Amino acid sequence: PRANLIMRSSSENCVADNLECSRMTVAVRIRPLLVKELHMDVSSIEISPDRREMKVNDNAKSYTFKLDHCLGQDTDQTSVFTIIAQPLLDAAFNGYNVCLFAYGQTGSGKSYSMMGDNLDSSLKETTGIIPRFCHQLFDQIPSNMVAQVKISYLEIYNEFVYDLLSSERKALKVRESPDTGIFVSDLSVHGVSSFSEMQKWLSEGNKARATASTNMNDKSSRSHSIFQIQLTLTEDTGSSVTQKCSQINLVDLAGSERVAQTKATEERFKEGRNINLSLMTLGQVITNLSDHSAVPPYRNSTLTYLLKVRLKCLGWGPNPGLPIHQASSLTMALSYW
Ligand code: ADP
Ligand code: MG
Repeated sequence: PRANLIMRSSSENCVADNLECSRMTVAVRIRPLLVKELHMDVSSIEISPDRREMKVNDNAKSYTFKLDHCLGQDTDQTSVFTIIAQPLLDAAFNGYNVCLFAYGQTGSGKSYSMMGDNLDSSLKETTGIIPRFCHQLFDQIPSNMVAQVKISYLEIYNEFVYDLLSSERKALKVRESPDTGIFVSDLSVHGVSSFSEMQKWLSEGNKARATASTNMNDKSSRSHSIFQIQLTLTEDTGSSVTQKCSQINLVDLAGSERVAQTKATEERFKEGRNINLSLMTLGQVITNLSDHSAVPPYRNSTLTYLLKVRLKCLGWGPNPGLPIHQASSLTMALSYW
């Protein structure tokens, strides 16, 4: 219950560009015990010295997971950002599309990792990946380039999309057209030119998410939230103009606990089924992309359908993104947490 997986992906193997960001990277982050857990019987976790393997001792059994990064409970927000998100931002600046997901049970630390206790105009130690990403993005714009940044913030609840930056809360649909590809109809898009502007939208969206959640009994743990950034960098040398575009999706997934574990009233059961459907589909899509075992079932859930183009690149080209042994370790991890 105190481990969350942070998965990042980028379109194509950025190693080709000397970027330290392969197509798919998976990290596990362990959070410290909460006060109420101090006297509970919790599984012990051992992390190997190279931080690539962890062993969970759960009652009489133990499970070993191989991951790209195992981040123990003493890893702070700055290090998490540097290890997981900075390479993704560098890839985005080179024109790659990138995605980052936090996966795990409710209470495992997904929102702390992704958002942290931000809602302030300056960064603090407790600030999470998304505000740090926005801050660093504006810091990193090369002086010879003009950046255009647009953002959207949405949540997927019961397979419908809701715009977190619109005053009206209505269910939106995912559509596909040959010209524009897959898009959410009527989703608001906002141009931003500074970190503080981005932060303002982020706070607004977080508030909208929290309000919807209070009205419906902590729904935030039962919806996926996606913060989207479209970054366009233009360089005009006088004799030529070059442009790089990148789509960035930063995703705080719904809690991965099973339906059976939640008190399933009919409404909750439907929610649970939809959450399981989308998380299961996400796991299936990643597995199919990495081992080429079947056509990935993108359309089975709104989450995977919406992110299809982003996910698709994972398995693109002659070399699949993840080696098979790692894909199976990931599938095992996805079903464990
Ligand atoms: P989730 O989003 O997965 O449901 P939260 O991010 O809300 O979980 O975390 C649950 C609780 O644990 C919160 O009170 C949060 O502040 C705390 N927490 C999570 N991760 C850490 C961490 N790395 N360090 C300190 N506190 C943490
Ligand atoms: Mg959360």
